[in-house]
This record gives sequence, structure tokens and C-alpha cells, in this order.
Amino acid sequence: MRIRKEIQVSGIVQGVGFRPYVFRLATDRHLSGSIRNTSAGVTIEIQGPANEVEDFLAQLPAEAPALARITQVTTREIPCIGDAEFRIVSSIMGETVRALISPDVAICDDCLRELFDPADRRYLYPFINCTNCGPRFTIIQSIPYDRSRTSMAVFPMCEECRREYEDPKNRRFHTQPNACWKCGPQLELWDTGGRRVACSDPVTKAVMRLRIGDVIAIKGLGGFHLAVDATNSSGVELLRRRKGRAEKPFAVMVPDLEAARTFCEIDGAGKEALISQYRPIVLLPRRSGTTITDAVAPFQRDIGIFLPYTPAHYLLFAAGNFSALVMTSANLSEEPISIDNREAVTRLAGIADGFLVHNRQILLRCDDSVVKPMAGRVRQFRRSRGYVPGPVELHKDVPTILAVGAELKNTICLTRGRSAFLSQHIGDLENLESFEFFREAVEHLQTILEIHPQIIAHDLHPDYLSTKWALAQTGVRLAGVQHHHAHIASCMAENGLEGRVIGFALDGTGYGADSTVWGGEALIAGYSRFERAGHIEYLPLPGGAKAIREPWRMGISYLAHTFGQEALGLGITFIHKVARGKFEMILRMMKQQVNSPLTSSCGRLFDGVAAVIGIREDVSYEAQAAMEMEAAALAAPASAGAYPFSLVREDGSWQIGVRPLFEAIIEDLRRKTTVEVISARFHNGLVEILARLAEHLREESSLGRVCLSGGTFQNGYLLSNLIRRLEEREFEVFTHAKVPAGDGGLCLGQALIAAHAAGN
Ligand SMILES: [Zn+2]
Ligand SMILES: [Zn+2]
Repeated sequence: MRIRKEIQVSGIVQGVGFRPYVFRLATDRHLSGSIRNTSAGVTIEIQGPANEVEDFLAQLPAEAPALARITQVTTREIPCIGDAEFRIVSSIMGETVRALISPDVAICDDCLRELFDPADRRYLYPFINCTNCGPRFTIIQSIPYDRSRTSMAVFPMCEECRREYEDPKNRRFHTQPNACWKCGPQLELWDTGGRRVACSDPVTKAVMRLRIGDVIAIKGLGGFHLAVDATNSSGVELLRRRKGRAEKPFAVMVPDLEAARTFCEIDGAGKEALISQYRPIVLLPRRSGTTITDAVAPFQRDIGIFLPYTPAHYLLFAAGNFSALVMTSANLSEEPISIDNREAVTRLAGIADGFLVHNRQILLRCDDSVVKPMAGRVRQFRRSRGYVPGPVELHKDVPTILAVGAELKNTICLTRGRSAFLSQHIGDLENLESFEFFREAVEHLQTILEIHPQIIAHDLHPDYLSTKWALAQTGVRLAGVQHHHAHIASCMAENGLEGRVIGFALDGTGYGADSTVWGGEALIAGYSRFERAGHIEYLPLPGGAKAIREPWRMGISYLAHTFGQEALGLGITFIHKVARGKFEMILRMMKQQVNSPLTSSCGRLFDGVAAVIGIREDVSYEAQAAMEMEAAALAAPASAGAYPFSLVREDGSWQIGVRPLFEAIIEDLRRKTTVEVISARFHNGLVEILARLAEHLREESSLGRVCLSGGTFQNGYLLSNLIRRLEEREFEVFTHAKVPAGDGGLCLGQALIAAHAAGN
């Protein structure tokens, strides 16, 4: 019996070779019908013997092209007609296209083979790509996605490229960025003045400069990198000095998995992440005694490693035989990454010794993503290039919402139906450049997704630029969302949870409902409301924001809280070397409540402990003290023990008290206990007290599900141990993997809370 079916496929199915794939699938089975792009994806009509049609349907999602992402397939039977063959019908111009755009992904194996094949016409061509790989998101101006609306518009295809583009059997059928030596973009090496260096091969020339320890700015997919030989310590230190980046780790690109293995310990999950087409930076435990200089990631156990992802990266490694290159975002401190050639020459003056540029415009910047395998899963730290604008699937329909995130590590989120689209990493909204990028990202994401939000969700902090921007918008409903409530909702949304949960939201800073600085919070929360069920006790944050860069301030705050004036006689190094001269001043500040807001922050607790035990009195980047504490804890013996905290119920909520903790730390310091053991005991103590608190909350609320969110859970030691402890006590534990636990994942929670406030 012959049948005909109409199949609607939605998701990322345009610009990824889906139509030629379906064409082959149909013609291999001698089925007739058609396929065309539609506003939501593709529509297929397929006709033939019933069993062949069923087989076609079964194979359709199974063997889809690498970049395709099918979110929904619906089929219905329609009357047979008299067509004899399968056709690709061109899309109707002017039709609204809502199909999703693919992220930028790494060069595929086929293109890589051609790149190094002397017989191929694209031999060594730095911009080789096909339907299965290459740039997408960062070259798109608007939709529908075709070449005229991308930064490839200025490169008319040559005859040969055009032929490939029009041939349904070709791997480059409808590949919008298709290009070759003859017709496509080209590389150039520029000097510090932005003048072209005369040479026949800019790659070889750049390699020669890198070999002698020069810093070369390299234009990539989503922005410029600053590159330097990672085995050359004076080169790396030179880059640190020039960039004004004292200690924050640099990411390192290595030629292949084998090289990565010589530098890091790589488990199965780490390997998968490294070689995936998304090519994130993967944080992995560093092996000791390798040729990568310590200056790459001082005081850290982990190192951020990634594999080449553009053809030009592969050409650099092939020509230079480097074992490792520092490839760090080309920016000044926390400003956005450079994307424009001329702008890079100006902004990176005094930092780069040369510029390997190209003439394909990057329309929207997109930093490298960062992931880390922890507690058995690969977890997003910075979800950006390779993943954006791919959707995070939701468990239910939500209205169109724009959630604008918080301040640090800002990302935004747009929702439609069952999809949440998180933007690339925008950065810390503390300067004009980042705020400008924020506005561009909001605009661009709305354009390419065609989402016009009915509601804008924002943080409650009145001084955040994202909040101010939201409040200035007109013609939409606004929804203010408490920071830690958003964290827990983000974790719930990622895990498809409904109802209420016990939520631990641990981080550095979030505007509290009582106008204090929250950050060590236990909530009983659902999307529609939350109750603050417990928190770390309040302590003054002497100096406000200054105390975040100077952990010694919190060190004094905790010691004064625990020991009062007697702190001065404790006989520990921190008091002698750091605190003595400042103690009275800080004490006075706190007593008179001068610039000393109260905080329940968990990040500041890490800071305070790190200062007191001598790990770090000042930090040069966010979460540095906590990261070094984690590294120390990991180096301690497995059964180090745990410090006590107090837990009392006061004013209707549980207070985690730190006095017993600091008393025990001081005792250990007097006994000359190592900082590794002290760090482990601190982490373990925190795990124990949170598990105990969870028990109390379960008794009170009968809830058995626990969500863990907030930047503090990017600490693998804390995360794995807390999960294990809670599971031993038969809690169901939910964590982040697809979106960051830190503020980079906050917008997802804001959106879901706003959806509920709107009645969904
Ligand atoms: Zn390819
Ligand atoms: Zn060409």
C-alpha cells in the first residue's frame, strides 16, 4: 500500500544541511515528495510504500546532520498524488522564518582533511567550512539566514563555489559562508600600527613571531585572542604585565587530545567536552612538571585547555609545531573582547606585537565557553561560543519574556514557547563598553529570534545597569526578581521541576529582600514565591565593595565577631603581618556602621577564611580566594575532618553561626596544621552544616528535593561532597550543568519567575 505523509520538523534545521540530508534519505529509498523551509523549520511530504515511509520516519532524526537539532516532529497522513521524484522546493521569499540559527562550531573532519590535502582546491585555506561546520551566529545580521544577511555578503561566490552551493548532493549545498581562496575572506598580518606586513604567508610569519615570545592578536570566530607560546615563561609574564592581569588564569590551546593528555588529567567526561564540536575551554587538573609555564595559572590546580576550532588555528599549530599556546580573550581587564580590526589595533596598542587579522566581519562578539567536569557531569561555567543561540529546553510553555540578568558575568535570556534562549557571555556590566555590548546583545537576539517580549524580568538591585535599563523600557510589563530566588528557579527550570524545593543559593553578592547583601541562603522556593528559611549569620562587610577585592577586611570582621578585642592577642600570622595596623580602624568602621553593610555572603566567608589562614589577603580577580581554597582542600588527605558551625533558629529562620568555625581554625593555626587540611576541614564543615540544615527544613516542610545554585557551587570539592552527603540522607539533589550555577545562569530563573507572576 502506498501512503503520503506530511512531516513538520522544527528546531535547528536550516543552514545545517538538513534538506540535502532528507533528499538523500528519500532518494535512497526511491520515495517521492518534497521538502521546503518554512517559518518554523522544514515541511516534508513523503510518498511511497507504507513500510518504506515508516522506515524513512524512523531514520529521520537518527542520522540527522551534526549541527541539526530537532525539537519537534509532527506527522499527518495526506492523500497520495502523482509525483515521481523527490524535490527540494526553494523557500518563498518574504516568508517569516522562525527556524533556529545554529551556533558557531568547530571545523568538521571532512573540512579538516581537505584543509591539509595538497590536491584539494581549498588546501590550507583558513576559511574552509561546510554545512556541518564553521561560523553562523557571529556572522548573522538578521534573518532569514542567507548569505545576503551575513558578513559573507561582500564576498560573491566564484563559479566553483556557486556550483557546490546549488548542488543538493554536495556537502556545501546552501552553505551560506561557503568560500575558497578565489572568492572568500583572506588573512593578513598587520604590524602594531595597523599596516599590512608584506609576506606571502601570514600564518608562517605569525608563527615566527610567536616562536620568539611575541604576543600576537589573532582574529577568530567570536573575537580576537591574544596568543603567546605557553611554554615560554617570559613571554607569558610579558603578556601579564602588558594586559595588567596579575594572576587570573589564561586559557591554553593545544594541538590535539594527545597533547592535552600530557598537560592534564582527562577523564571520559573531560575528553567528550574537549573534542566536541562546541570546543569549550575545559578546566582540568594540571599534571605537574609539564612544559606549560606556571605563570599560565598561578596557584591553581586546574588549567583551562581547549582544542583548535577554526581552520586558522589548525594552520598555526601545523606551521609552528607548538605544544601549547596561551589564547586569551583580547580585552583590557573586564571590557568586552575586541572584534574589529581597526579597533583592535587601537585598543590593544602596547599589548600585541602584531595582528593576524582577516576581512570577514564579526558582527557579534562571542567569547569562548568554559566548562568543568565535576561530580560526574560536564558543567557550564561560561555558556557562550558553540552553545549560543541554541535553546535550553523548558518543561512547559512560557510567554515571551526578556530576562536581563544581574551585574557580574551578565547574560540575558529570551523565552518563547518551550525554549529559553540564553545570550553569549556579556561580562561584568560595570563599564560603558560592557553596557553597550549588553544593549547590542539584547537587540541582536531579539532580531534573529524574532521575539518581542511582553515582560522584562530584572534583578532587584537598584544600581545594576541591567536593572536601570529594564526600568527605562516602556510598553512592557516589568518583573523584579530577588537574586537568590532566581538562582534556585534557574536550577529548577534546568531540571524541569515544578512545585516547591529546598534551595541552597550560595554566592558572593545578591540584593536581599531586606536591602542587605545576601549570599549564603537557604530558601523554600517555587517559581511563584520563596521564603528565606535560613542563612549564614549577618556580619558587617567593612568597606563595602572594597572588601570584595580585599579579603583581609572580612578576615578582621570574622575575628572581631568571634573574639572581640582579644583577636589582637591571638598570636597568628594574619594578625601580626596583616591586621594589626588596621584592626582598630576596621573595628571603628563597623561599630559606627560606616560603609559596612551587613552580609550573609558565602563568598565572603570563603574570603574571610582564606585571609585568616594566609592563603590570600587581596585578590586580583573574582572568586580567586575561593578557587585557591578549593585547590588547597583537594590537596588534603581524604579524611581531614570537619569544622563545627552553630545552627540556631532565630526570628523564624535558621542562622548558621561562624564563631565555632573561627575558634577551631585559630586552634589549628596554633597547632601549625597545614592550610590544605584547614581548607578541607572548612569545606567539610560547610557540607555538614548544610546537610543538617536540609534535614531540619525537610522536617518542617516535608520537601525532599534540594536545588544547589549560585557561584559557590562552581567549587567542585564543595559540590561533590554536598551532593554525596545529601544523597546519603536520601535527598533528591538537583544541580546545574547546562547553564552556569553562577550569575551567568541567573537570567533563566528570572524568566521562569516572571512567567509565573504573569499567570503561567
Ligand atoms: Zn565542514
Ligand atoms: Zn570560491
